[in-house]
Amino acid sequence: MPVSQLGPIVSVMVAVAVDKPYSYRVPEGMEVKRGSIVVVPLGPRPTLGVVWGVPEDNFAHNRLKDIAHVFDVPPLSEELLQLVDWVARYTLAQPGMVLRGALRSREGLDPPRPVIAYRRAGPEPERLTDARKRVLDTMDDAMPWAKAALVGASGVSPSVIEGLVRTGTLEQIELPPPPPVMPPEPDFAPAQLSEDQQRALDEIRAHDSGGFSVALLDGITGSGKTEVFFESVADCLREGRQVGVILPEIALTHTFLDRFERRFGQRAAEWHSDMTPMQRARVWRGVLTGEVRAVIGARSALFLPFRELGLFVLDEEHDGAFKQADRVNYHGRDMAVVRASLAKARVILSSATPSVESRNNANQGRYALVRLESRFAEASLPDITALDMREEGPEKGQWIAPRLARAVFDALDRGEQALLFLNRRGYAPLTLCRACGHQYQCPDCSTWLVEHRFRGVLMCHHCGHEERAPEVCGSCGAVDSLVAVGPGIERIAEEVADRFPGARPVVLSSDMGSMSQIRDRFAEIARGEYNLIIGTQLVAKGHHFEKLSLVGVIDADLGLAHGDPRAAEKTFQILTQVTGRAGRASKTGKAFLQTYHPEHPVMQTMVKGDREAFYAHELKVREQGGLPPFGRLAALIVSGTDHDETFAYAKRLMAAAPLSENVRRFGPADAPVAMVRGRHRVRILTQSPKDFDLSGYVRFWLDNADPPRGSLRVQVDIDPMSFY
Ligand code: ADP
Ligand code: ZN
Repeated sequence: MPVSQLGPIVSVMVAVAVDKPYSYRVPEGMEVKRGSIVVVPLGPRPTLGVVWGVPEDNFAHNRLKDIAHVFDVPPLSEELLQLVDWVARYTLAQPGMVLRGALRSREGLDPPRPVIAYRRAGPEPERLTDARKRVLDTMDDAMPWAKAALVGASGVSPSVIEGLVRTGTLEQIELPPPPPVMPPEPDFAPAQLSEDQQRALDEIRAHDSGGFSVALLDGITGSGKTEVFFESVADCLREGRQVGVILPEIALTHTFLDRFERRFGQRAAEWHSDMTPMQRARVWRGVLTGEVRAVIGARSALFLPFRELGLFVLDEEHDGAFKQADRVNYHGRDMAVVRASLAKARVILSSATPSVESRNNANQGRYALVRLESRFAEASLPDITALDMREEGPEKGQWIAPRLARAVFDALDRGEQALLFLNRRGYAPLTLCRACGHQYQCPDCSTWLVEHRFRGVLMCHHCGHEERAPEVCGSCGAVDSLVAVGPGIERIAEEVADRFPGARPVVLSSDMGSMSQIRDRFAEIARGEYNLIIGTQLVAKGHHFEKLSLVGVIDADLGLAHGDPRAAEKTFQILTQVTGRAGRASKTGKAFLQTYHPEHPVMQTMVKGDREAFYAHELKVREQGGLPPFGRLAALIVSGTDHDETFAYAKRLMAAAPLSENVRRFGPADAPVAMVRGRHRVRILTQSPKDFDLSGYVRFWLDNADPPRGSLRVQVDIDPMSFY
């Protein structure tokens, strides 16, 4: 809708928990359009909002308040506004809260502060001290110097510079702030693509109609997918459109930024939670003004205010971390595809183990399936063996089977590296008292406390509750009676120290320090300072270590036991990823899967290396069960401080469900993790055919049911990825 046609009264979506836009008057002399970012009075408080359009209903003019301020930035793009509505409708989140995700930097709305600088303006001062001379020698040309740079280069205190201003030798000026990043150069250092890579790139280009399209780039780890999609990024930059590369983990952004810089000569802007408000402001504003052409970031980057979005790349598109599980429950990959379709942009989904959803979309012809068949250069896939724990398991009290232990010795003897993988942080998943059997539980969650012996604490992995590991059993008073049940990586580390005394081990999990400490560990591993890595899924992703030739999976069955329809898929993905760490360079890698179910289809797939058989089998199972991607799921999680009240409300809610032959309803049932942070949790699950509007159904249901009161809360999870 063009500017002036909005009229004197407009609707404004405020970025707080509201369901719809409110009407405001545009004061005399102010100009707003759809997408303009404004401040409006909301109750007593000035609140950030966005002009949405013409109000649907007519209010009496005299009751309306004026828009207080309109920011001097370009309006949000039409497609972003549509995305906000779309996400809100689909996930049942309040549009104001979704909009908040798009206005993530309040500071970015203010004009960036100019840089204080100095330049030569007059003759040398009469009193030329050493310090003053150093300043003038540093500034030997007419170019202005930023204050910080001048202080740094001349090594004087700012007061010396101010003195030179007073004598008229220098003058203080203001320079426009530098752009957050320099534009990437599409032709800086293109890779010499292999034949296979070139064919893949040609296929992506051929599929691209200039509008919306999705390509699924499916190739084993190390096949060179990144180099291929970098060329698509270059295509997009050449067209003058913006690019977002979205990664599942911020821990991966660093390596990625380096690679980007080598290819494009400039760093991309980054976007994730580990940035200062100032950095965020610069990037956010730069994306909105168009100064920033490429962003590498976490899932929230999909809500950045791109003006000319041309391409989203989702690397490791299958990764569960793309699903956001708090407040607005959205799936980053799916919403990126939605945004691209609204923006008429391209999407590349890249993965070594595509999600079953994306594979199905490719099978159905909605996405182009582009494959990379071989590893780049001479690297090859590892040789995978399932180690039957019933037949050749480890001795009591140990977790590493003899055959795996021998392989570790051999690898270390050859001067190579080995990785022992267990996706469980801490020392042991369960701690109990030997004397009385007391099990240590979180006081606020129905979960066992996990012992972190390294830090001397018992910890809840759901809410973060921590307590010191007691010396005396809190229940029976026995001294030193704690026993650990089952292994976590710290316990594996202990066994390693015992059984491989000559090794140089390192333990890596997300709780082992800050992001930069973890980054340092990775660098040390790459330099070969350690040769035996014990890690969680943190090490399964994205990193390659030249000398790593052996991967041992301590518990390959770990992910299979849950009532999660994606359990097999997730297990297949993580096992493929972690075993793929072996033999990335020219070495032939080996991997062992310790399992009690060597006959399970996932283990068979891994051993035979037959991923196509896995997808075929998994798609059949899902189709028979009406599960995603052939059906839809939506979960309702009812929570409250009192169990019986919570359960009773869930039952009433269930009874209030509108009848529909399209929807199957399950529950209510106490959730597998029945209490989190002191709140009891009850789950209801609904299932419908794919072409049914399950979001609309759930909305209608909740709108017509008794609203939750008191401590009760209902959380809606459309397309749930976790079922705890
Ligand atoms: P993937 O993204 O599929 O895991 P990468 O793109 O990371 O694979 O490639 C694996 C390795 O091979 C990387 O070290 C990368 O630099 C290298 N590589 C891939 N393609 C090329 C190429 N065309 N020229 C030079 N090196 C390449
Ligand atoms: Zn807890």
